[in-house]
Amino acid sequence: MYEKGRAWIELSIQHLEHNVRLFQKLLPKGCALMPAVKANAYGHGMELICKQLQKLGIRNYCVASAVEGARLRRAGIHGQILVLGYTHPRDLDLLVEYDLTQTVIDCAYGKILKDFGKKLSVHIGIDTGMHRLGESYENISGIRELWNCRNLQITGVYSHLCTSDGTTETDRTYMRLQEMRFQKVLRYLQAEGRKGFATHLQGSYGILNKEELTGTYDLARVGIALYGVFSESSTELERKYDLRPVLSLKARITSVKELKAGEGAGYGLAWHADSARRLAAVSIGYADGLPRALSNKGHALVKGKKVPIVGRVCMDQLLLDVTEVPEVCPGEEAVFIGRSGTYEIRAEEMAAEAGTITNEILSRLGERLVRVIV
Ligand SMILES: *Cc1c(COP(=O)(O)O)cnc(C)c1O
Repeated sequence: MYEKGRAWIELSIQHLEHNVRLFQKLLPKGCALMPAVKANAYGHGMELICKQLQKLGIRNYCVASAVEGARLRRAGIHGQILVLGYTHPRDLDLLVEYDLTQTVIDCAYGKILKDFGKKLSVHIGIDTGMHRLGESYENISGIRELWNCRNLQITGVYSHLCTSDGTTETDRTYMRLQEMRFQKVLRYLQAEGRKGFATHLQGSYGILNKEELTGTYDLARVGIALYGVFSESSTELERKYDLRPVLSLKARITSVKELKAGEGAGYGLAWHADSARRLAAVSIGYADGLPRALSNKGHALVKGKKVPIVGRVCMDQLLLDVTEVPEVCPGEEAVFIGRSGTYEIRAEEMAAEAGTITNEILSRLGERLVRVIV
């Protein structure tokens, strides 16, 4: 099969390395990158990305589930793999078999892990105010109890910030409050003489906005920004940090046709030609993760020109109005994320047009796309 035959992702290893080095410079001495490679490395392809990260010296990773962790081990990834989410009691053997570190998502779950009876490496999640996972920072005695579970080897204690990507003073204040609560727990454990565990608090935005925080931690769970992308476009952060997008999304133009003024196109004839137009059918659709919300809204680059998506995005195909691109032929490429000539469409732009954030756009890029390293 020709890998660029239909629809594909191109990965820039140079850009990945650039972003890794940029973050390593940003992190305080002694703090290691623990890339978030969940959801197929935010759609990039977790095996390909982690093999490159491993070559760059990365030794810690975080994933959402034990199955994702097992997938990394089978791909030959060494080092610590932390499962951030819940692992069903019936799947706990996966943790042992693949040497995965499990999050203690709360004290009740700690009991389940203890009762499993086999030795497990765990990080304790602390809820400092997001109210998703983690034991409440207020339940110090419950947290302390976990050290009495003989089969739990506690190798980390962490929390997660929920407003670190916000720009308002309220967001910043809450971020600092969460850190204060986390540090309270850490101070308590320290006073008890508990040690030998790594601490971590920050994701991408916790690092990008680190001047809001006072502490330093052993690990940083950087996800979206390591792929060279902000969750949403921000002129301030773009000026401050030279992140380079790792991923480009491209697809093949398969057919070109001329429409007369007044003719409609696509499902529901949701688009009509207001004058004579030339349309190109492209072999990518919402099943590939290109949002249907981009119907009559999104854009692509063809031969260095920006052209609109017209009509409804289909499951496997869509239509572009290529009237403004002279001599466009079947077999040519359409770029949905990435560069063509002097133009670039960034994931942030596509996300804004689709009414979402880049994290969702990228992590939903489908299985059917072929990932190629360039
Ligand atoms: C996904 C996730 C991260 C990474 O977040 P980014 O904003 O993509 O850097 C970090 N920590 C936890 C707990 C997560 O679930």
